[in-house]
Amino acid sequence: MSQTVCVTGASGFIAAHIIKQLLEKGYKVRATVRGESARYPYLTSLEGAAERLELIQADLQDIGAYDQAVTGCDAVFHTASPYAVNVKDPQKDLVDPAVTGTRNVLNSCAKAASVKRVILTSSMAAITDEASNEKVFSEKDWNTRSDLKRNPYYYSKTLAERAAWDFISEQKPEFDLIVINPFMVIGPSLGPSLNESNKIYADLLKGVYPTLMNVTWGLVDVRDVAKAHILALETPEAKGRYLVSNETMTMTEVVEYLNSLGYTQYKLPKINLATPIGDKIMKLLSYTQPKGSGSYMRSHIGKDMRYDNSKVKQELGMTFIDAKQSIKEAVEDLFKWNHVEAKHAS
Ligand code: NAP
Repeated sequence: MSQTVCVTGASGFIAAHIIKQLLEKGYKVRATVRGESARYPYLTSLEGAAERLELIQADLQDIGAYDQAVTGCDAVFHTASPYAVNVKDPQKDLVDPAVTGTRNVLNSCAKAASVKRVILTSSMAAITDEASNEKVFSEKDWNTRSDLKRNPYYYSKTLAERAAWDFISEQKPEFDLIVINPFMVIGPSLGPSLNESNKIYADLLKGVYPTLMNVTWGLVDVRDVAKAHILALETPEAKGRYLVSNETMTMTEVVEYLNSLGYTQYKLPKINLATPIGDKIMKLLSYTQPKGSGSYMRSHIGKDMRYDNSKVKQELGMTFIDAKQSIKEAVEDLFKWNHVEAKHAS
């Protein structure tokens, strides 16, 4: 394997796993980060990194910053984007870097004649920002409801993905675009940061959620999300968007599972408000939460979440790690990185 590929946002939870798997497969990897190389020992110590990993500094909003990283690359994985539910200024903190950054990276790719395929990490957030008792979501759906006030992270992901597809139709570059739309990505982290999605499990154990709510999560293991990105590169016929998520689990099912694993000495929610009356109470209480979390609660509580993940299975041959296994490893990882203080015998 002599291909050279670029991965943006290399320090991230998902990108680090993409880089690990690419190095294992023999690719040469140019990886963009915002800080000095010394800040990323979990990348530079990966097997194969000494010979085939190069870190290059780039910020999404510095125009032309990705030129050097993508020049000479066969393909580019664009994962960098701010991922935060609660921010001060959604336009400045989420939308601007997500959209400007996507255009910036695609412009650099268009200038580099070598790039044949770009794989963009979008999100289920660009498919829908709400659960639904009627609908089964698929790649055909687009989130049309988010804005700067309602689920602004979802808005940033939708605008960024739209900007990417617009770039392709307007600029007609030499490369094609494949988009990966994962749901809630969980599992072991290669680096020390706590990702927003794994943070839910830390918060469950720490008592941040005193009550069970009627919400359903679509879960997918971070190693599977990385695998889907690479399958999207290695499958010449890959086309369009791929909804990448395994099973759904309700909050109640997740908490029952954590109890069954023996995490009973932690502050897992005990009060059951996953009921029709509980839905009403939780929706009222959502107005006492930080804006991003409150908005999420109002668009998800009391509704089911169903989706069709057959496209990625059929077209890319995707198989998934069992969701309970991912939860188990995500939680063990929280203790490993001291995101949650261990109170049980390991
Ligand atoms: P993450 O760990 O927070 O990674 C985000 C990455 O983006 C980091 O490398 C971060 O760099 C980089 N970044 C943010 N702002 C930047 C800027 N202005 N310039 C350059 N780089 C910037 O999150 P993740 O979960 O791995 O997310 C990766 C991608 O997957 C994102 O596009 C996210 O929207 C998408 N996604 C995530 C999930 C999930 O559940 N985790 C689900 C669906 C989609 P620093 O380390 O320097 O901050």
